[in-house]
Amino acid sequence: MTENTTGGDVRLAGISKSYGSFTAVHPLDLTIPQGSFFALLGASGCGKTTTLRMIAGLEDPTTGTVFLGDRDVTDLPPYKRPVNTVFQSYALFPHMDVFENVAFGLRRRGIASVKKQVDEMLELVQLGDKARHKPHQLSGGQQQRVAVARALINHPQVLLLDEPLGALDLKLRRQMQLELKRIQTEVGITFVHVTHDQEEAMTMADQVAVMNGGRVEQLGDPADLYENPQTTFVANFLGTSNLIEAEVAETGGDLLVTAGGGKLKVPGERCTAAVRVGGKVLVGVRPEKISLAHADDAGEIADGRNRVTGRIAESSFIGVSTQYVVNSPAGAELHVYEQNIERDTRLVPGAEVVLHWNPAHTFGLDAAQDID
Ligand code: ATP
Repeated sequence: MTENTTGGDVRLAGISKSYGSFTAVHPLDLTIPQGSFFALLGASGCGKTTTLRMIAGLEDPTTGTVFLGDRDVTDLPPYKRPVNTVFQSYALFPHMDVFENVAFGLRRRGIASVKKQVDEMLELVQLGDKARHKPHQLSGGQQQRVAVARALINHPQVLLLDEPLGALDLKLRRQMQLELKRIQTEVGITFVHVTHDQEEAMTMADQVAVMNGGRVEQLGDPADLYENPQTTFVANFLGTSNLIEAEVAETGGDLLVTAGGGKLKVPGERCTAAVRVGGKVLVGVRPEKISLAHADDAGEIADGRNRVTGRIAESSFIGVSTQYVVNSPAGAELHVYEQNIERDTRLVPGAEVVLHWNPAHTFGLDAAQDID
């Protein structure tokens, strides 16, 4: 590995991968901006690891070109690319202590005085006091940080992370997400992170590519993907979407649709479906955007809000919020998350309610797509 200071975006141009007649990754054009924390997010088998491995050079693309900056690296073997990979398994050398594991890349390149660089790297990952420990004496999170330090000491232009937190328990995962984000901000190089965990991608990444069936369905920053999903897959993969089947009543500017006997407004710019009066559309709203009023208090709901009626089916208090499942003529099961509710004002199963929300939080999707 040679030190690289030129940088540049990672650019995939028409990259695809087929195994016999099976296409794991369909031709993909993707630019990963230099210095960004980029997540490839999707369910098992969607092609995210294959995409990562093509960037690393561990997999030859069937078609297309991989650029690092202006340089075509498609035919370069992995060790000649300014790229390092951290795997879920860490792959630390068990007989070497932490210091020697981190020093390995430097020693292999014939660099004799390694102490300063290794010490700096161990400080970066906050393991300065563990230099003489063997991997088996460390926790999973600490081992993971050694693996990151060992990769970063080669000064790669891009660090690839393949489900690096997959082996950790939930609490440690959450800590390591913040830790990796901090490290990336500090070193400033491009991180490409593969995960199936939407919360992980949303917490860490500046940009997320949501993959499904070997294709990128949507690319964007986490908030935009969450608030403006363009497909039912993205809407459902990134949280609960409360999709309601509706019929278009009025078009032009904002959209008016009928659902469950009532009318709902959808901002025109938030509807990705082609619409005509009488056509079908799927209308969605995130659970935390919805408020609940007891049916007796419906008169107090402000004008102009979208509203549907329903009956509480389930109510669960989960500490930070109360989560309701509501049966409604507008959609079999609608989910509502309400925060800061006093114990005695929680609604109980069977209660007749009105769900209401600001129309600005409503999105519209093509009803011809499958609802996952
Ligand atoms: P996971 O999170 O389970 O690793 P993934 O999204 O990373 O899933 P890939 O590992 O990229 O998915 O695999 C994509 C598809 O390609 C899968 O259906 C997988 O079975 C298939 N595949 C991967 N490697 C090979 C191979 N060497 N030969 C045949 N099929 C393969």
